[in-house]
Amino acid sequence: MVNISIEKFATATIKNNPNQYQKADLIRALTDALKAKQNGAKCMICGSPIWAAGSGITGTYMCFTCTTGEADDSEDYEIC
Ligand SMILES: [Zn+2]
Repeated sequence: MVNISIEKFATATIKNNPNQYQKADLIRALTDALKAKQNGAKCMICGSPIWAAGSGITGTYMCFTCTTGEADDSEDYEIC
């Protein structure tokens, strides 16, 4: 995972998905997901630690692999 700030991740997400998100809402959702991860939230499917960046966007607490169907997360972002 590549660590990125919530602010930068929200900006990049909005840039890639114009008109789909309100920045303030996205930042709130990402902050909640990161807090949940730090408090030990687990993927609802497999029980691994959640992927906060993806969980904040989808609103569903799942790990990277269950969210994306990919095993390789080396080039994907995680908020910190
Ligand atoms: Zn999972």
